[in-house]
Amino acid sequence: MHRPRLLVVFGTRPEAIKMAPVVAALRDRPQIATRVLATGQHPMLLKQALDAFGIVPDAQIAPSRAAGSLDAALAHLLVAIGGAMERERPQRVVVHGDTLTTLAATLSAHLRGIPVAHVEAGLRSGDLSAPWPEEGSRRVAGVLADLHLAPTAAAVAALRAENVPAGAIHLTGNTVADALCAIRTRIAAEPALTAGVEPVLARFAGKRIVTVTVHRRENHGAPLERIAEALARLAMREDIGIVVPLHPNPAVAGPLSARLGGGDRVALLPALDYPAFVRLMAASALILTDSGGVQEEAPALGVPVLVLRDVTERREGVVAGGVRVIGTQTAHIVAAAGALLDDPAQHAAMAVARDCYGDGHAARRIADILLAVMTGNMG
Ligand code: UDP
Repeated sequence: MHRPRLLVVFGTRPEAIKMAPVVAALRDRPQIATRVLATGQHPMLLKQALDAFGIVPDAQIAPSRAAGSLDAALAHLLVAIGGAMERERPQRVVVHGDTLTTLAATLSAHLRGIPVAHVEAGLRSGDLSAPWPEEGSRRVAGVLADLHLAPTAAAVAALRAENVPAGAIHLTGNTVADALCAIRTRIAAEPALTAGVEPVLARFAGKRIVTVTVHRRENHGAPLERIAEALARLAMREDIGIVVPLHPNPAVAGPLSARLGGGDRVALLPALDYPAFVRLMAASALILTDSGGVQEEAPALGVPVLVLRDVTERREGVVAGGVRVIGTQTAHIVAAAGALLDDPAQHAAMAVARDCYGDGHAARRIADILLAVMTGNMG
């Protein structure tokens, strides 16, 4: 008997982290043949994330040599993913979120008449320029997918507001909670997994850790300079150690290293593997970030987050009280971080562990829905 073939496609660190639990759950369902296609959108970060979950892709696409331009990168991905689909001949494709890989895989599948399931469907900032180009990519996926696996009730509502039929939407929870849970269990059993971050935690022993990640395109240039200046001013405090795992994009690493390199209260590190980064987040008094995934993980760990963006599509953490959106103005960042560090009551009110993004069982739900759809037991 031929098993129905499913092709899961992703290419970046956050996709790998959030899809790893889905791949594991699908592989526990032998009625479907699940294959993983990894694109080379962020090769080093992708491998680091997949290694943390012991996932080896079945097929890989070499990174584009045309550096710099988004349209060249998209064209490369579109053609290469299309070629992989010709070889794999899946009955269904599964994509995640809002990356260029998501956009390319969705279009490639659509052009071949292959149905698409979209995981983490329905996130919307309402602003095509922030996050850019992700808001546009996920809206395209929302139009072309026929199965929408929404992480939260707000995401379901956003899809319904765009006239996606109710029967095509499933509320699953966000798989980030599954990933975080799986890695924390692994760390508890094998503490050596976090070795990559222990030296910096020892260096800042007795101080409060402020973790910072920045990478979004809309923060490249002037916003990043303002963020770097804010961190330099915060680093004048003696009670904190600022830890910045750097995204390898030179547009990010360059300005931060130029302004902050060499300071004794700031540690600029290469990107950490997922177990080490989870340990760092859990050890932090405060996180400043423009990352989507970190905005979802930190509330689960009970660590306050200040978001270095003007808007967020992840309102649940804000509504729950664990996350504040503060933008990228230097004075504003210094004031907001300083107030949280100086006011124990304000800090305690934010530092409450909350499961506003999922209960840790999203991957199982998603795999069950895909199994039902692919074996004809559901619409
Ligand atoms: N992350 C990691 N190592 C790091 C920084 C982040 O493993 O040094 C993880 C983080 O826990 C989260 C994901 O990478 O799960 C977020 O990736 P990123 O910020 O690049 O993308 P976004 O979530 O903004 O799309």
